[in-house]
Amino acid sequence: MKPRIMTLGSHTALQILKGAKDEGFETIVVVKKGFDEPYRSYKVADEIIIVDDYSEFRSLEDDLKEKNAILIPHGSIFSAFTVAGIKDSTVRYFGEKEVLALEESRSRQREWLQSAGLTMPKKFEKAEDIDRATIIKFNGAGGGKGYFLAKNKQEFDEKMAERPHEEGYIIQEYVIGNPIYVHYFYSPLNDELEIMSMDKRYETNVDSIGRISAKDQLDLNLQTSYNIIGNIPLVVRESMLAELFRMGRAVVEESKKLTGKGMFGPFCLEMVITPEMEYYVFEISARIVAGSNPFVGGSPYTDLRYDVPMSTGRRISLEIKNAIEQGRLDEVLT
Ligand code: ADP
Repeated sequence: MKPRIMTLGSHTALQILKGAKDEGFETIVVVKKGFDEPYRSYKVADEIIIVDDYSEFRSLEDDLKEKNAILIPHGSIFSAFTVAGIKDSTVRYFGEKEVLALEESRSRQREWLQSAGLTMPKKFEKAEDIDRATIIKFNGAGGGKGYFLAKNKQEFDEKMAERPHEEGYIIQEYVIGNPIYVHYFYSPLNDELEIMSMDKRYETNVDSIGRISAKDQLDLNLQTSYNIIGNIPLVVRESMLAELFRMGRAVVEESKKLTGKGMFGPFCLEMVITPEMEYYVFEISARIVAGSNPFVGGSPYTDLRYDVPMSTGRRISLEIKNAIEQGRLDEVLT
């Protein structure tokens, strides 16, 4: 039986499922009750399995395996299952699960990116050391929620006191420049790296604070927050592309030294570019990111390479299709 493409109903599921259908696969979505309407309305799922809670997924696994389902991971799978849950799942999975451990730990992720030769914002071990603008990031904060800025220990302590329940965090240099998110795809079948698309984020309230005067901002004692609500398409100066390809290739090659198959499929480098044109990478996401959602119909970059609208979701299914045709499906699954 031909594999079916399956994912959870959230994040980038619409483009994953639509892309799978465009490549000739049948699709399955597992979705929480109350969140199923988009998958019905956009007609991207051949089968919709509704659950009360994602903890029920385990009990569906035998049925999904019988249907020859391949699970396509995306960001929401981590909040639904946790990394341990994904590792334990017995359904076939697109990607190398070993990369999850690299990515999950901020310190291992840092080692990975730095040994690939990328520049990262400086990390401060303790608040006493803060000597410049810093951003405080809490562990497990989905989409930048609750992050704050501090320029010295006193400000750090004051703001931390307002958040008594937060536990793990890191203190990172706040790099002044333009944040961009570059969406890559690496194929282990032909060893090619593609830049699929790019985005910038639309975050509340940091992207709206400039709508009121600086005086009002101060009078209201506004604090910036980085809670993501959407993504905006972006293209960069063409002369920047060579460096972005070089950076993407470097993290792929480094991942091959650190894990079995290395990282393949979609991934994203999240960076801030300064006026001196330095690229500071503050995070890697080793899977499809929500910033690729504006490109369901392809991007300016995929239009250069493909004659059909090629979303990142569709590119995943194309990779699976190519792997099947070459008898190499095992190479892209865990
Ligand atoms: P999450 O980890 O939840 O994805 P991010 O790490 O993407 O959150 O960060 C949220 C926001 O903070 C983004 O707007 C990003 O551009 C900004 N940001 C993160 N790290 C830095 C940094 N070191 N310097 C400047 N801005 C940063």
